[in-house]
Amino acid sequence: MVRTVPGRTDRVVVVGAGLAGLSAALRLRGAGREVTVVERAAGPGGRAGRIEERGYALDTGPSVFTAPELVADALAAVGEKLEDRLQLVPLETTYRAQFADGSHLDVHADVDAFAAEVEALCGAGEAAALRRYLADLAELYRLQLTTFIDRNLDTPLDLLGPQLVQLARRGGFGRLSRHVERFFTDDRLRRLFSFQALYAGVSPYRAIAAYAVIAQLDIGAGVWHPVGGIAAVPRAMAAAAADAGVTLRHDTGVRELEVSGSRVTGVLLDDGERLPADAVVVTVDRPETLVPGFRRLRRPVYSPSCVAVHVGVRSELAGQAHHTISFGAAWREVFDELTRDGRPMTDPSLLVSMPSHTDRSLAPEGGQVLSIVAPTPNLDPHSGGNPDLDWATLGPRYRDEVLAVLESRGWTGLTGAIEVEHVDTPLTWAAQGMAAGTPFALAHTFGQTGPFRTPTLPRRGPENVVLAGSSVQPGVGVPMVVISGRLAAERITGRDPR
Ligand SMILES: Cc1cc2nc3c(=O)[nH]c(=O)nc-3n(C[C@H](O)[C@H](O)[C@H](O)COP(=O)(O)OP(=O)(O)OC[C@H]3O[C@@H](n4cnc5c(N)ncnc54)[C@H](O)[C@@H]3O)c2cc1C
Repeated sequence: MVRTVPGRTDRVVVVGAGLAGLSAALRLRGAGREVTVVERAAGPGGRAGRIEERGYALDTGPSVFTAPELVADALAAVGEKLEDRLQLVPLETTYRAQFADGSHLDVHADVDAFAAEVEALCGAGEAAALRRYLADLAELYRLQLTTFIDRNLDTPLDLLGPQLVQLARRGGFGRLSRHVERFFTDDRLRRLFSFQALYAGVSPYRAIAAYAVIAQLDIGAGVWHPVGGIAAVPRAMAAAAADAGVTLRHDTGVRELEVSGSRVTGVLLDDGERLPADAVVVTVDRPETLVPGFRRLRRPVYSPSCVAVHVGVRSELAGQAHHTISFGAAWREVFDELTRDGRPMTDPSLLVSMPSHTDRSLAPEGGQVLSIVAPTPNLDPHSGGNPDLDWATLGPRYRDEVLAVLESRGWTGLTGAIEVEHVDTPLTWAAQGMAAGTPFALAHTFGQTGPFRTPTLPRRGPENVVLAGSSVQPGVGVPMVVISGRLAAERITGRDPR
């Protein structure tokens, strides 16, 4: 039986209008609660941010949008249809993988087209392995969704059951690198199916094979582009919430939770106003800064951080894809540098997204917008990061280096064509209050996953404060935080019977 908030829960305040907060607000409103969302920034979105300048629209957060059915489900809680709020374009080419030997591989959403591409590059044996691997991933994901991801977990005992046994039998608790190596002999395919571990904040050499399922979310199930950019997603959710009667407050933060006995009775805003509350959903990165009595995990390990370079360029960059993973020659060293040695990658692997390839509304005629995400160590030495890296000085140099690397890997003319630019470094995330200067929260080490990750209803702290967002179950990334919003709402309303 999942624990829920006891007592009255009519008026709920949600702290934060990121994807987790909006997901929770939609669910709570759908269940008849009076909901107010308080956001200290000027608009909704949180990490899924947006900058508009000189005709370029730069998404400053996520670029790979997966599992749209989760957003559809959140909108359905208030009787809305996703297609009435958002236009989603499925990407035929999920990623282009560019390798250091000069070859490239287009990952197609269509399995036959993908297998044909793999056969042409790596041979028939690897194409057959691909089909087996994709089927295996889909099954692993199904098992994990019901055991680990899509439910509130209060103790490890909640996991016990036939599905856990099946997960173990399928090798889910072995190393991800070995799992991938068992299927593929071609090093390029091994990389393609293990780089996603970095999204979970762990090296594939240390991650358990269960994290292979992250590749199910993008390569297996497909990637979509929301027209207007990813920032259109939180905007659509916020608009649907407002139309359903949720009150959205922007430009003012929650300064303090007012506690009386074992409960929070109201929230105090930065501008001095007090909002009464029967329950509160907190989606901030570090709940310990706001929730009295909340204790974070004892020795938290944080994910690597990143330098994100967002640019609008006056160039068509012909021939480039929507999403490119540009692999360097180095591989194991990359993960050691990021998660052990506290050094920026010497031979970087980069994720480059050019959404204007699909959506011309994002850039002026003859231009493109690009986001280049270069993983870096975070600022926490206990997480393999490095507090001594002086990003104020290093940031601009690293930006130059990343652009030079891309030029050398075929993005000719990129640097000279930049018209607008925005660069984030670990300092940016630290200044926004994110632990260890990373926007990717607690790493998904085994001890910080499933029932070992902070539950949405913490055991310590006021009994009517619920948590959501990437620091708690189930974890990091758009799909996971949207799920966390639902799990948080269910701690207040009980499980949604839909
Ligand atoms: C560069 C980058 C690339 C990424 N790429 C991807 C990707 O490709 N795919 C993917 O799935 N995920 C990606 N992510 C991760 C994803 O963006 C996050 O996991 C997700 O957006 C986090 O949502 P959230 O609601 O938990 O937190 P947030 O979006 O951070 O929302 C929390 C909100 O709370 C507000 N807040 C904080 N304190 C207070 C307060 N005291 N009072 C009021 N409001 C407050 C903040 O302003 C913020 O709006 C990326 C992130 C970044 C930064």
